[in-house]
Amino acid sequence: MRIESKLAQIGSVSEPVTGAVSYPIVQSTAFRHPKLGQSTGFDYARTKSPTRKVLEEAVAELESGDAGFACSSGMAALQTVFAMFRQGDHLIVSLDLYGGTYRLLEQIMTRFGVTASYVDTNNIDELEAARTPNTKGLLIETPTNPLMMITDIEASCAWARRHGIVSIVDNTLLTPYFQRPIELGADIVVHSATKYLAGHNDVLCGLIVTKGEELSKEIAFLHNSIGAVLGPQDSWLLMRGMKTLALRMERHQHNATVISNWLRSHPMVAEVFYPALTDHPGHEIQTKQSSGNTGIFSFKMKDARTIEPILRSIKLIAFAESLGGVESLMTYPAVQTHADIPEEIRRKVGVDDRLLRFSVGIEHSDDLIADLEQAFAKAAEELNQQ
Ligand SMILES: *Cc1c(COP(=O)(O)O)cnc(C)c1O
Repeated sequence: MRIESKLAQIGSVSEPVTGAVSYPIVQSTAFRHPKLGQSTGFDYARTKSPTRKVLEEAVAELESGDAGFACSSGMAALQTVFAMFRQGDHLIVSLDLYGGTYRLLEQIMTRFGVTASYVDTNNIDELEAARTPNTKGLLIETPTNPLMMITDIEASCAWARRHGIVSIVDNTLLTPYFQRPIELGADIVVHSATKYLAGHNDVLCGLIVTKGEELSKEIAFLHNSIGAVLGPQDSWLLMRGMKTLALRMERHQHNATVISNWLRSHPMVAEVFYPALTDHPGHEIQTKQSSGNTGIFSFKMKDARTIEPILRSIKLIAFAESLGGVESLMTYPAVQTHADIPEEIRRKVGVDDRLLRFSVGIEHSDDLIADLEQAFAKAAEELNQQ
């Protein structure tokens, strides 16, 4: 079955008693046992919960994995995966990393003696140079955010496998609709499902998908032991959102392509970072490993003084963090999302004071361009008056 059909049908045949097409929100934490030594399959909701289970099975199938785990946030999913590692272990991680993941690694995992090196994960020489006898994990974001750097998933995961290193891909930006890292050799996929999977800027959630029995058992143990699991209501909201993922991703991609091209020819814009553009350095690999492009990109203004008036003047587009929802959001990474990353690293990857990040929603692209046009005009006018 094609992925559009799987998405639309999530949970629709899972409830045999009433035949409910929308799987019910089962709010119970305790489950009655038929008799001693017997179980309905459910004992206590942290370990397994009916609504969450439907979601977890669906995401495992969508990502071509063996087991799925729903967590209370994307960070909870990453923390649960990182709990696999122990004192002395070393990780290799994408350079232009989500700020919260960087903070978790540098300010929390270091307390447990787990360290990380940040490299261009698309460069096997850099991976090789960073590898130590204690390197146990490789964490890739592709595309990265905000700079949209692309890593060849197949090549880097094959490298990891050769060295007995567990490969983890954060697939938040593309979702299984456009990219399935496990099919390309990854061991684990994580998601901030808060973004495109849920899609409506209204539920915080994370997902993990594992390949192989051993890893699936280990993550099941950690998921239950740590307990950062997703509740039944939020599991339902996430499934509800995922049913329209295919339609939304197509529209996000369409709008982002139209607007990135418009921005590229605008005289106030210095550079646009979007892998769908044929001159993007990662375009070829992105096209090889993914069937489409995300709805988020970033761009650099020529003059940093235009940033403040633009963010003040956009109306339809909200000045807000987050990404992946139906509503368009714009943010200023250097100050908002990437403040926890040291300036030195930020400069190295190119997150500077002229960079804006745009999560393009599913509004009509004409209206979004009109909003940008009036905000840019206002910024130009103010600059002229200075
Ligand atoms: C948002 C995000 C996270 C963190 O997820 P939360 O749901 O906010 O906890 C992790 N990775 C990426 C790529 C993200 O965009």
